[in-house]
Formats: sequence, structure tokens, C-alpha cells
Amino acid sequence: MNTANSKKAFELAQNVIPGGVDSPVRAFKSVGGTPIFIEKGEGAYLVDIDGNRYVDFVQSWGPLIFGHCDKTIELAVVDAVTKGLSFGAPTQVETKLASKICDMFDSIDKIRFVSSGTEAVMSAIRLARGYTGRDDILKFEGCYHGHSDSLLVQAGSGAVTFGTPSSPGVPADLTKHTLLAKYNDIDSVKKCFENSKNIACIILEPIAGNMGLVPADEKFLQELRSICDEHETLLIFDEVMSGFRASLKGSQGISNVVPDMVTFGKVIGGGMPVGAFGARLEIMNKLSPDGPVYQAGTLSGNPVAMFAGLASLEKILETKDLYSEFEQKAKRLVEGFKKAANKNGIELQINVRGSMFGFFFNDMPVKNFDDALKSDTDMFAKFHQAMLKEGFYFACSQFETGFICAAITDEMINDCIESAQKVLSEIK
Ligand SMILES: *Cc1c(COP(=O)(O)O)cnc(C)c1O
Repeated sequence: MNTANSKKAFELAQNVIPGGVDSPVRAFKSVGGTPIFIEKGEGAYLVDIDGNRYVDFVQSWGPLIFGHCDKTIELAVVDAVTKGLSFGAPTQVETKLASKICDMFDSIDKIRFVSSGTEAVMSAIRLARGYTGRDDILKFEGCYHGHSDSLLVQAGSGAVTFGTPSSPGVPADLTKHTLLAKYNDIDSVKKCFENSKNIACIILEPIAGNMGLVPADEKFLQELRSICDEHETLLIFDEVMSGFRASLKGSQGISNVVPDMVTFGKVIGGGMPVGAFGARLEIMNKLSPDGPVYQAGTLSGNPVAMFAGLASLEKILETKDLYSEFEQKAKRLVEGFKKAANKNGIELQINVRGSMFGFFFNDMPVKNFDDALKSDTDMFAKFHQAMLKEGFYFACSQFETGFICAAITDEMINDCIESAQKVLSEIK
């Protein structure tokens, strides 16, 4: 595989962009080698600037449910572009997309659009604090909620403690209000509630996708719900990744637990920069201009992004058996990987939720971040590099989730399993 052009492009990029990338995970640091520079997408495929083609299991980290250059979404965007890129004034398409989502989710009466997942979660946290009049928030090790200050807290193992910042530039004064607990471990949550009477909200990925794919147990979610009810703390489901991915309604299409607030991103913009947060009326009424909690955005509800999101969501709703077909493909893929791994004496832990899949090079089932960290990341790096050469593009870290899109065929899955068999027998 020739990647000379990508190597050259990466060198040039590094001169003017920190690390050569605009989001750190793209730098291929944890798998070695240099990132592939993309020329274009074609359905299930990525084409790089050296002309190599890859079946894309990243799909822009989730948003592209129908793959690249989906005609319906493309036409909606082109049509919107000819009418103007941005107005900073209301448009009807915002109401249309909002109505669709409010109709779909029991937990949501009103929704506000923003421009990224980070912004959605940051705003939801502010609203939760404003609504409850409390300062502390509780998050879980290994859950990612974007890069805003209060949420960038070390996933320090074990001890339940007030968080310390995981990045320079985040004042400890800010993160002292962020409590950390262990995913799928209700006792660690109870300890936090013993330490603080001031918890505005619990925020979690109900289907965690940022430590690899680690779904929450149903019982754990139920217990979180009842602890929140008992303490009048809000339960926030961060469905930026799982929304319209794990099922049509994300976690809420799989679990019976109903959150107080929900955040979205990724799929909701169909590939354009969109995020959103929603809740029931009494909470959303506290948001500016109806209420005192301030939140704003020059490009929020951008018409081009809204039309992309709406086209994507309408197509999702129109496509029969979309999620069951995703799940079938995802299952077949990781079960194929597991079989191939086991044949070569390698242990593999696998998970699937709808179009989301994960596999850990790990001897034990993965229930939380500590478990995930015990995975063999060297083995993952070798697997990643070799699969890339075979023409399969996976997320460049053991701690990310893979995605099936509608353009991925059964044949591509078969080919991928075949390549994995070959690769695993070579790297064992
Ligand atoms: C991606 C992600 C975010 C951040 O969204 P951005 O659009 O990258 O800012 C927040 N929460 C979860 C669960 C995510 O997966």
C-alpha cells in the first residue's frame, strides 16, 4: 500500500496545525504510523489522496448512518445552500426537526439546537445546575462528554473522589464540582451522594462508546433512576453517539429507564455540525429567553445543517428494518472476529448495540473503564495497521466504537472477516 501522499500531507499539516490534526484522536498516535488523508467518500468507502480505498467502519465517528455522499442528504443540502448559508434568524426547518424529535422521545417536550456535541452537553449541564440550584455534577470514568472544562476530569482508577482536571488549562476550582464514579458500579455512585448533598445531575453515556463499546446494565440504569428520584437530582443521558445509532431512540429504544434530559449530536446533523439538548417542559422553560439560564449561538440551528439532519432522520424513519439489519451485520462481523481470534489463541471481548460494535483484546468481560484499560493495546495497534493494509478503516484506538452504515454490504462484512482471519493468524 502506497501512502506517500498522505505522509507528505501530514508533514505539511504539522507545520501549521498542532499535531497536524484538528481533533487529537485522528493523529493515529495510539496505533502508530501516520494518518490517512482523505480525498473523498463513496458510500461505504473512503478514498485517500494516494488513491487507496477502504471500507469505512468509522463513518466520521458516527454521524453518517447512510454512508458517504448519500443522495437524499446531498440533495437536501445543495437545495438549502442555494437559499443562503446562514441567517441568524429563525427558519421553519428548525421547528420541523425539533417536532420530529419531540414526537419520538417521551422524555423530550422541547429541544434546543447547537453546533456540536460538546456544546450540547455543556449547555445541558448549565441548565441542570440552573434548574436545581446546585453546583456539583456526577460523571463516570471512561465516559466522554466533549471537551468542556467541568467534564474534562481524570478517569483516575478506583477511588471515588472529587475530580482533578485531566488537562492543563482547566482550573481545579472548576472541576472540584465534578464527582467521579465507576461505570456499572452503583456503590461508587452512592458514595458520591454521601459526600455531597449538592448534586445537580448525573450524566452518563447510557451506552458508553468512548472507552470502547461498554453498555450500562439495565439494573444499573434503574438504580441511577431511583437514586436521582430520591435526591431530586436530574438524570442526563448523553446520547450524542448512541442516539439514532444503538437503536432509533438510542438507549431509550432499548432500556425502560427514562432520563430527565437528553443530549444529541453526530447522527442528528447527518454529517453537518449539529448538537441538541432536550428535556421536559418545566426544565426547558428555565432556558433563555423563556427563563434565566443563558445559552446562545450565532450558527445554532444553521439551516444547511438542519436540512441535512432532517433529511437523514426522515430517511431513517422511512427505511424498514434499518436497525435490525445494522445489528445483524455488526454481530456477524465481531462474532467472525472472535472466532478468528480464538482460533489463534487470542481472547476477544465483543459488544454490539444496533449499528455500534466494539471488540477488546482482553481476557475478561469489560464492564467499566478499569476493565477496558486492561486490554492489549499493542495487539490492537497491530490489528489496526494490518487491517488498514487489507482495505478496512477502523477507529485508530482500542477505546473507540465501530459503526455500520447502510452502504456496508454483507459481502464487505464477509471480506472483512476473511481479512481478519489472515491478519490475526499473522500477529498472534
Ligand atoms: C462525540 C461525543 C461528544 C462530543 O461531541 P462533539 O461533537 O465531538 O463535540 C459528547 N458526548 C459523547 C457521548 C460523544 O460521543
